[in-house]
This record gives sequence, structure tokens and C-alpha cells, in this order.
Amino acid sequence: GIETVEAHAERIDREGKRLKVILSGGEPIYGRTVIAALGRSGNHRTLDVPGEDLDKVFNRLYDPKDFRGQKTLVVGGGDSAMETAIALAKAGSEVTLTYRKKDFSRPKPENVDMILALSENPNAEASVEDPDSERVTTASGDFLAEDRGAGSLTLKMPTDVVEIRPESVILRDGEGNPETIPNDVVFTMIGREPPLDFFRRSGVRIQGEWGIKNYAAMASFILFCVWMYLWKSGGNPIHNFWVSHSWFPYNLSEVFSDLMENPKSLLGTIAISMTQPAFYYGLAYALIVSVFGWRRIARRRTPYVTKQTLALILIQVIPLFILPYILLPWMGHNGWLPRTFADIFFPVVDYDPHGREYWRAAGFILAWPLFIHNVFTNEPLWGWLVVCFLQTFVLIPAMIYFWGKGAYCGWICSCGALAETLGDTHRTKMPHGPKWNRLNMAGQVILFFGFFLLLLRILAWLGVPGLGGIFYHLNDKVYKFTVDIFLAGIIGVGLYFWFSGRVWCRFFCPLAALMHIYTRFSRFRILSEKKKCISCNVCTSVCHQGIDVMNFANKGVPMNDPECVRCSACVQSCPTGVLYFGQVDSNENEIRVDKTPASPVRMNEGG
Ligand code: SF4
Ligand code: SF4
Ligand code: SF4
Repeated sequence: GIETVEAHAERIDREGKRLKVILSGGEPIYGRTVIAALGRSGNHRTLDVPGEDLDKVFNRLYDPKDFRGQKTLVVGGGDSAMETAIALAKAGSEVTLTYRKKDFSRPKPENVDMILALSENPNAEASVEDPDSERVTTASGDFLAEDRGAGSLTLKMPTDVVEIRPESVILRDGEGNPETIPNDVVFTMIGREPPLDFFRRSGVRIQGEWGIKNYAAMASFILFCVWMYLWKSGGNPIHNFWVSHSWFPYNLSEVFSDLMENPKSLLGTIAISMTQPAFYYGLAYALIVSVFGWRRIARRRTPYVTKQTLALILIQVIPLFILPYILLPWMGHNGWLPRTFADIFFPVVDYDPHGREYWRAAGFILAWPLFIHNVFTNEPLWGWLVVCFLQTFVLIPAMIYFWGKGAYCGWICSCGALAETLGDTHRTKMPHGPKWNRLNMAGQVILFFGFFLLLLRILAWLGVPGLGGIFYHLNDKVYKFTVDIFLAGIIGVGLYFWFSGRVWCRFFCPLAALMHIYTRFSRFRILSEKKKCISCNVCTSVCHQGIDVMNFANKGVPMNDPECVRCSACVQSCPTGVLYFGQVDSNENEIRVDKTPASPVRMNEGG
């Protein structure tokens, strides 16, 4: 049965394996699990301006007719503010709507249309039968005017409220100019603060709130990534130091010397690979993607996630690990690879203990300019040049045309594999907003640098004097360390647990920047059933590419943001099943819906 206790819960403490709910003025309650069903909304947000405590300031509208003939100010740019302003204007109030931005982007488009229409003509048709806002408790429409006529609606955007006085308010426009307007009543419809204090008192870490421990943990992990990427890559002091001291794994040459004498045996081949850091990096990567991939499948439970994750695991394990580090070298040592094929794709070298560059096989999956090493070579490797050209300029554009950038970034690429598996529970850490969106352009700069290097490389191959040295310097000294090691490795992986797993993908990846051009011609969209959207913002918050998905969904506009990697988190997390993958024609009309279910709600609805 259910026992009810009426009391104020102050916080939750842990006591051994039990949780203790501390009640004010009562005995604590113990339990193994506590569900804090506090709702998502806490106290009303405040403007923090003088005069906010005056009796004329409200944050809820009960009966708009009470304010007929009065000068009212509505503060806010969301649906609550819009529905308040519409009801007041229709009831005969002289309404001023103030909002700190110059455009409305979040409210429902029909509310925006009504506000704009009323600002032009107070008698324009406008009605809200069933307000979305829990703070507007009455329907609105022409009936509110009761033959006395509507009031008026004036928009003041962008403006901030500076002060509220008994008979006026002071606003400040975007250039800092103050304006005093007569006023009888103010409605602050600017949302609520989440109820976080209870969790803070209970010692629950709140995402986005940083303390010294977070900074220390992030700095330590970044330092670890610095070491790892320098250890794994050649041509740097850490790597050279490791080799010169014969530290792990270079010391294994002695341990495995017997096995290594017979490279034709499978164990002999593996033993040779085990003397190289890249083997352990590839192994760890494949294991992490597999383990966290299974966890993602168990957590998300949609056919889309299952298929996508299995594809990512298989690609990571077979072509990106077993093939270059075990299968190809083993076949090569046994003479099972056709000689011409081996010479074209895996040139003979001295520095690699297998005698050939089998690591280049990663280029069958990773395309230029993400994986530059098969193109930026001393001599042209014609086989790889053909493969890279087909990947980058034929296959990927074709895939994007039908299925969007996510066909590669969400289903094939190894960086995507790690982000969708290890990064699955860190999606909400990606920062959103216009300031961060500006950094999205960094990838274009790196892409330009990549094309510039390609031009230099080709001209140097053609024998233009002096360019070989410049290319070598820019590629080996600048690009490799700043882009490959620092941005892709140290920053991309180092920020994983604090800023989500897609930092490199969203901001810096040059292949993504190239794909953004292809996506302009793509048919892929995330489509939405606008009428089901409750503007809860879940889809936006789970998007680890920083896309404001809700801004498309609540307007019913097909989502065509090129950053989308088709992870399906927004579709899967939407509580009302608004979103689904599909395709549109050139007029943005829906022409196809994806067959693989990605939304549990739509699956239950039979959609
Ligand atoms: S953005 Fe770049 S690194 Fe990330 S998944 Fe796509 S291609 Fe791979
Ligand atoms: S998660 Fe669904 S209901 Fe919530 S805002 Fe997004 S599309 Fe709308
Ligand atoms: S829009 Fe949705 S599918 Fe696309 S990246 Fe964001 S969460 Fe993933």
C-alpha cells in the first residue's frame, strides 16, 4: 500500500546503502530509492530591477477583463507572454510587450502571427482557445471585448526593463537609450527557475555547475590525452623518449622475440603488432565502442539505435582494428595478398615491424580530409588517391543526398562511433546558443587549410621547386600537431565528459565542413507533427551537435541543420513522438518516411 506523510522534505542524505529523507520537524524517512517528483519548474524568474516588488506586478493572468482600459506591460518572448498579451489586448487593455531580443524565435508561430497582427490592427482576428501556458488561465478571443472594442498592442523589441515605478516603467532599448512609459500593471512572464536548490542541498551534482573538482578532473584528463596522443604518434619528444627508454610497448619485442620470429603464424603477427602503441589505441577504441555500444542498445531500445550501434561496432572492430593490425599483416606475411594489391595500398617500408604500411587500411573507412595520410604522401599512392576521390567526392555526397550527413557521421565514422557510444550519456553537455554556433565555422577554416595543403602537395609532386619543403613543414609540423593531435585528439577526446563527445565533430572536423556543402542538396530532414509538440525543449537539450531542434519542431518546419549527425537522440527522447526521420522534395514537401522506427512513442502508436 501507499503511506502518505505530510511534511516538508529538506534534503536527501546517504546513510550506508540507504537514503534518508530529512523532514523539517519530523522523523526522517529511509528508503533504497527516492523519487523526487518536484516538477521541472520552481520559483518564477525575476527581473531583478527596482520596483519589482510593487503590488502591480504579477506573474499570472486570471481574468484579462480586470485590466480593461489599463496600461499594461507584458515582459517576455515566450508563449506565456504572447498568450497574456493577446488576452489583455482583446479585453481592451493598452498593452506594451517588451522582449530583450529583436525577434521572436521560441514561441509557436501562430502566437507570433497573432501578436504581429494585433500590433498592426488591434481588431485583427486573434484567439487562443486553450492556452499552453499554465500561467494564463483563460481563453481569449473577440468575446473578451464585450462590444467595447479591443485595446491596443505595442511591441518594444529589443528592450530591457530597467525600473518599475508606481505609475510608469523605464525601458532601455538595444542601444542603451532609456524610455519612460506610463503604466498601471506589469506581467513578468519570463519563465521559472528549475527547482535545483533541493538537489544542491542533497549534494546532487547539477550538470552545468562547475566546481574545483570539475576543473581538476578535466585538466587531468586533458593531460592524459596529451600524453596518449603524443605516445601514439611518431615524431615528437614524448614518443622519442619512450622509444629510447624501451618502455611499454617497445619492451615487448624482447618478451615476444620467439613468437615474432615466426610472423606467418597468427600469434607471431599479433605479437609484432603488440609492440606498437597504435595496436593498443585501436584495441581500446574497439572495446570501448563495443561495451558502451551494448549499453546504448540496452538503454535506448529502438530498432534504429540497435542497427546503428551494431554497424558502428562492426566497423570499428573489423575494418578499423582486425584488418590493419591482424588480418592484413598476417595475410601479407603468408604471401596471401596479391602482390600488386599490396604494393598499391600498403607500400613496403623499413620503419614498420610488419614491413608494410597496413595501417593505411583505415583509409577504406575514414575519408579525406578527415584521414589525410593516404593523400599527403611523399609520392602519390595512386590506388589510395582513387579510393579517396571516390569516397570524398562521389560516395559521401550520394549518401548525403538520400540520408543526410549522419549516414557517414552517425553510422560509419570512428569519431562518431565513440561519440554515440561512450558519449551517449554526455549528450546534454554540448553547449547551445548563438555564441557557440559562431564557432561552428572553425571547421571551414581547417577545410580551407586542407585544400591548400592538397594544392601544395599536387604542385610539389608535379615538380614545382621549393614547394615540397613548404608542404612538409605545413603538413608535418603544423597540420599534424594542431589539427590531428591537438584538436581531434586532445581537445576532441579531452573534453568528452564535460562538453559531450561531439566537440571535434561539431566545431573542427574538416570533412564535416565539406559535407555541410553537400547537405544543401540533401533530401534528408527531421520532420515533425507540430500539433503534438509541447515545447518541452527535450529534443534541443539532448542534441550533442548543439541544434535547437525545438525551434523547428514547434513550428512544424522540416529540420535541415547541416550539423545533424542523425544520432536519433531527439527523435528517441521526444515524450510525445513529434519527430521522425524522412525526406522532402525541392519544395520541402514530405516524400518519404524512414522505415526503421526511432521513436518509442511512435512505435507504441503504431507509427
Ligand atoms: S564530423 Fe567528422 S569526425 Fe565527426 S563523425 Fe563526421 S566525419 Fe567523423
Ligand atoms: S521533445 Fe518533442 S515535444 Fe518536446 S519540444 Fe521537442 S519536439 Fe516538441
Ligand atoms: S538533430 Fe537530433 S538526430 Fe540530429 S544530431 Fe541533433 S539529436 Fe541527433
